[in-house]
Amino acid sequence: MTKRYYFAITNKCNRSCELCSCYSEPKRNTFLSLEKFKKILPEEGNFEIQLEGGEPLLHPNLEDMIFYAQETGRCSKVTLGTNAVLLPYAYSDSGLDYDKSVENIKNYFSKFKPSFVIKPSINFYLIEKDKLHLDKCGAIWGAFKDLKSIGDYSLVFNVRIRKKPLSEDDDQWLVDELERIKLKEISNIFFYQRYGYAKDREELEEPFIIPNPVDFYLISPDGKNWGKDLIARSEGMKDLE
Ligand code: SF4
Repeated sequence: MTKRYYFAITNKCNRSCELCSCYSEPKRNTFLSLEKFKKILPEEGNFEIQLEGGEPLLHPNLEDMIFYAQETGRCSKVTLGTNAVLLPYAYSDSGLDYDKSVENIKNYFSKFKPSFVIKPSINFYLIEKDKLHLDKCGAIWGAFKDLKSIGDYSLVFNVRIRKKPLSEDDDQWLVDELERIKLKEISNIFFYQRYGYAKDREELEEPFIIPNPVDFYLISPDGKNWGKDLIARSEGMKDLE
């Protein structure tokens, strides 16, 4: 059976979303070392990796990790979970320069070999902080439409919505907006779940693991392997610097 490793490679983030499930924020500073990353990967057999955070694009060795895994010749898929803040957008006087942003994003991701999946986050807090967030997501989709024509590159937006009372309409406005800008069909839309900074929100459900046909492991930024225990990894991340 394929092994999949979910690496939270840092708990540092350039955003501080109120309901963050992994206790990540700008003041945190734990980064998984490249050496620990290499040691955790299996010595034989195919595997997949998902690099997430915090914000993985803040990790100085993010690209080294991807290249190392792909150079083993046994890494069948790389997935990057990112808030998409640091991608190489271009701007014009009126906002985002869509065409140049698409080109820049395409160039950035084409240096990684397929199979490559990107999962950019969309939620109320990211949009509140950056009014261009959804425009930027549109440019990411533009880049990946081009990348899909040259290899196994794919994109799915990771959308988290809030329940009442934090949102008057359960963030239906966001779902409607995704439909309007034609991103809904490539989005996984879930309510926030009750863990991390949301663990006392009684309106939310406990996390559930979607049945997964792979053997998977959850790794925190200190290199600890929490097996399949999502909540334990999250609580472990709370205690890291
Ligand atoms: S939810 Fe994502 S973007 Fe927001 S603070 Fe947590 S890791 Fe950062």
